[in-house]
Amino acid sequence: MYLAPDHIKMFVGGEWTDADSGATLDVIDPGEGKRIARVSSGDASDIGRAVDAAQDAFRSGLWSKMDVKSRAAAIRRLADLVDDHRTILAQLDSLDVGKPVWQAYDADVPNVSRTLRYYADLSVQTQSRVPITASGYDVHSFREPYGVCAFIFPWNYPVELIGTGIAPALAAGNTVVVKPAEDTPLSSLYFCKLVQKAGIPDGVVNIVTGLGHTAGAALSKHPGIKRMSFTGSPEVGKLIGEACGRNLVPVKLELGGKGAAVVFDDFDVGSAVKGLTDAVTANSGQLCCTATRWVIHEKILDQFVKQAVETLQSIKIGYGLEPSTQMGPLVSEKQRQRVLGYLKRGEEEGARKLLAGGPLRVPGHEGGFYVSPALLTGSPENVCAREEIFGPVAYVLPFSSEQEAIELVNMSNYGLANSVWTNDLERANRVAESLTAGTSWINAHNDSPLGVPSAACNLSGMGGGGSGPEALTDYLRPQSIVRPLR
Ligand code: NAD
Repeated sequence: MYLAPDHIKMFVGGEWTDADSGATLDVIDPGEGKRIARVSSGDASDIGRAVDAAQDAFRSGLWSKMDVKSRAAAIRRLADLVDDHRTILAQLDSLDVGKPVWQAYDADVPNVSRTLRYYADLSVQTQSRVPITASGYDVHSFREPYGVCAFIFPWNYPVELIGTGIAPALAAGNTVVVKPAEDTPLSSLYFCKLVQKAGIPDGVVNIVTGLGHTAGAALSKHPGIKRMSFTGSPEVGKLIGEACGRNLVPVKLELGGKGAAVVFDDFDVGSAVKGLTDAVTANSGQLCCTATRWVIHEKILDQFVKQAVETLQSIKIGYGLEPSTQMGPLVSEKQRQRVLGYLKRGEEEGARKLLAGGPLRVPGHEGGFYVSPALLTGSPENVCAREEIFGPVAYVLPFSSEQEAIELVNMSNYGLANSVWTNDLERANRVAESLTAGTSWINAHNDSPLGVPSAACNLSGMGGGGSGPEALTDYLRPQSIVRPLR
């Protein structure tokens, strides 16, 4: 029913509206390669309306000046509604991204409601006025929301990104304009229905669906936005940073990664294989922080590779809505061509295929964008060892000493997340601290508890990230009040 109308409209100023141009975009089911819906395709004009609506809502004070406990209560109502609509939100992301529905149901959607509640609670506990000691002065600092905060998201975790991304901004009292990815807008639009139902005032949350170079570019350079948060590729992140720099708008960039996992020879091979094959096939490898460089101690290399190949070959690849599916298709034909292109270039540069991977035909779903997992090895300079592929492809790099492992990991231009696998806790901590990134896991990968910041560096981003208390203060503008005592 939700997908049935001619097209799904955008949500601006509390109303469901068409794009000013009347343009629409097709939404494709990657599991079948067929259109499942159409959405409005906004551009600069619609972005202008949305920023105006968010500005009006901010200035009205209905949200920004609302008593913090009432605001937190509205966010908790939204969290309850997300829980109540967990099944449909999970199904929408499964249809839109191709991911196994159970992954969205078990992980992505509950993370949204948990995060909304976390920032609602934190906003109530955070002191907005703090006394400051300054001899001869009466001083305090206080924090205010910025105003209109802009968000641009990628397609890999649609509902999780919008829900967890805007949670701290909303809890701080800002209003938001969101541009979801053109490939996967469905759950973000559905989320707005829940925003409405939760009684969050009109204009506090606005969504403009549309293309990156039109709607996205217009949002990032709009002079009315007071903060920008971008999640996506480093290439587009640089454009966003440039646009924000011109208007002196603070910007948070959460970008790509080329995460490594260092496995020492004292660690149980079976457990490491399970952890890393799960990591590289989760969301079909379209996961920014996942482990795609497997740095394996030479003493366990053969055993590790044999078990990893067997495990990857046994993964059930299929349609996302089928309960037995462990790995779905890639999100689009464009993404499939990107992954296949990397496999070809990697081989041309001399990478050896431990498991070939490549295009896959899934019976009954012939039009879908499926690939099977690949495992490569060779020089650390190979394109597949250096660049983010964003698919189910891992690159094996053997090592013999701790120092060599650290150097292999830190060769990367990225700095998002890595992991170290060993039973020696002292070594685990020493190596984890030596790996340059926002997060180093020990004996795990892609396991991010709520409340933990993760400040990516290098090509992986800037301006902080993760779900710590810092993310709330990121959306609060500090101001000092100073009175000389004379
Ligand atoms: P992308 O950069 O191509 O697109 C991201 C968003 O930017 C989309 O909404 C797109 O429409 C928009 N966009 C594109 N061109 C634009 C422009 N010129 N101006 C403004 N907006 C524009 O990335 P993608 O392919 O959607 O996503 C994959 C990338 O996202 C990967 O690099 C992945 O690692 C990264 N990612 C990072 C995180 C993180 O938290 N660090 C999380 C998820 C994904």
